[in-house]
This record gives sequence, structure tokens and C-alpha cells, in this order.
Amino acid sequence: MNKGAGWDPQLLKHAVSRLVPALRNVDESYDIDCRALLPEKLDFAEGMHTGCHPALFKRVVKAPQFAEILKGVKASLEDDRDMSRKSVALLVCDVNGRHAAMAVGKAFAECIAADQKFSLGIVHILANQDTGNSCGVCARCEFWTRRWASRNSAVHAVKAVWFEHAQEVRLSD
Ligand SMILES: [Zn+2]
Repeated sequence: MNKGAGWDPQLLKHAVSRLVPALRNVDESYDIDCRALLPEKLDFAEGMHTGCHPALFKRVVKAPQFAEILKGVKASLEDDRDMSRKSVALLVCDVNGRHAAMAVGKAFAECIAADQKFSLGIVHILANQDTGNSCGVCARCEFWTRRWASRNSAVHAVKAVWFEHAQEVRLSD
């Protein structure tokens, strides 16, 4: 997707539902634009990793726009629940799918899994991991199982915003 350009939510949903047919059956879906959360060009040493890498994850969630996205989506999910909608899809979009979108996806997955008012469905990672100049998802970039202390503390700060204990993601450098 080109930086700055908008996209048609219906076209996006149609395109993604070719890869994830279950998307056709959800009660509501939201597309989340992650393009503003990181610079378009990253140094190779950074750019080879996904947004789940502890250093990139921290950079993304510290961006002031991230807390706004988090609060906005949570408010929408609460409205959906109040309207008895049972299933909602979040389409997390980025320029090349690996960086900010992976961080935002991870952040939402952690918050929703921790919140008893919601339950987390299936997370589909549709980014192309086979670009030839990627880490191939190293241990630090592992989405689910590796609990790196520095990413954990960032997840903790994100959850503080989700559960309304904080207005912004506060992280020491
Ligand atoms: Zn990596």
C-alpha cells in the first residue's frame, strides 16, 4: 500500500477474505492504518526484523498515535459488544506488512487475550516473510511464545492504556 493513500474498506475486506474466508462471516470489521507509526525506510539491521522484535515493538507503541488507535478500537469493540455483535475482525495494515502492523497486531492480541470481556479468535499473519532480506522470524521476532523482558514491559505499558490505568504508553528509554 502506498504511503498517504487511503483504501476502500470494502475492497480491502474483499481482498483479505480471499485469504481468510472466515472474514466474510464476521459481524463487523475495522481496518487499522499503521503506516504513520514508523518511518517508511528503516536501516537494514532494523528492517530485517518484524515489528514484534523488542526494539521495534517498543518504538511503535511509544508513538502517540498508537495510544489513540488502541483507545479508539477498544471503544468500538465495546460498542459492538453492547450491540450484541459476536465477532469482529481487525485488519491491521502497513506498507509492507512486517513492521508497525506486526507490532500493533501483537499489542491488540495481548490486550484482547488479557481482557475477560473479550475473547481472542484466530490471528492470521498475512505478511510475506520470504522477501530474501528478512530475519526469517528470528527468536526475538517470534509472535507468540518468546517472552522477551523488554517487549514484556512494553506490552505491560500498552495494557495499562487498554485497561484505562494510563492515558498514554509510558516507557523509560
Ligand atoms: Zn527478527
